[in-house]
Amino acid sequence: MSNFDARTVPPSVLVLHYTGMKTGQEAIDRLRDPDARVSAHYVVEEDGRVFRLVDEGRRAWHAGTSFWRGRRNLNGESIGIEIVNPGHEWGYRAFPDAQIAAVTALVADIRTRWTIEDRDIVGHADVAPARKDDPGELFPWKRLAEAGHGLWVEPAAAPGLPFGEGEEGAAVFALQAGFTRLGYDLPPSGRFDADTAAVVRAFQRHWRQSKVDGIADGETRAQLIALLRLAA
Ligand SMILES: [Zn+2]
Repeated sequence: MSNFDARTVPPSVLVLHYTGMKTGQEAIDRLRDPDARVSAHYVVEEDGRVFRLVDEGRRAWHAGTSFWRGRRNLNGESIGIEIVNPGHEWGYRAFPDAQIAAVTALVADIRTRWTIEDRDIVGHADVAPARKDDPGELFPWKRLAEAGHGLWVEPAAAPGLPFGEGEEGAAVFALQAGFTRLGYDLPPSGRFDADTAAVVRAFQRHWRQSKVDGIADGETRAQLIALLRLAA
């Protein structure tokens, strides 16, 4: 039994996770257990220690069923970093400075070896919005971007009626098309369904962290448009 295997293509996506377990040691033990059938390339402890579990040249099993910018099931095309935090289930808390400094240095180091675009540095929730919440709305994506890694635009108040689950029409279609262009798996249907709400929540956890409610309010929509401009 093993919890990694060979790659056939070089990694082009970086997926950040939280461990979602009570302690870092518990998470590391599980990620090292071949029978657990999960793994990641790195684990970053709250005090900033970095553990390398799987060689970057091999495929770790961290993303599961996933999608980003046309690529499906991302284990083969991504590097996974598990950031120690109990997560929403066990007492979600702020990521300490030492840990974020270590994550930032690790991301910078990884990017010296592989071509990974800013728009392809994402959270597990971004690539699996209906299943996952990590690394969540406390992860400081802004700080990572200020260090040169990932997309960021400061959220700004914007007019416009909020819309949410149950609504239909051209505006919903356009919203879904926008999320698809950014990278999410959301084929436009014109119906604001549960999958759409899950994508809005994932987007908010990453880019509009002050309010994660799955409702596409004016600020959320403006933030999406600003990011698309930046990514273009
Ligand atoms: Zn995860």
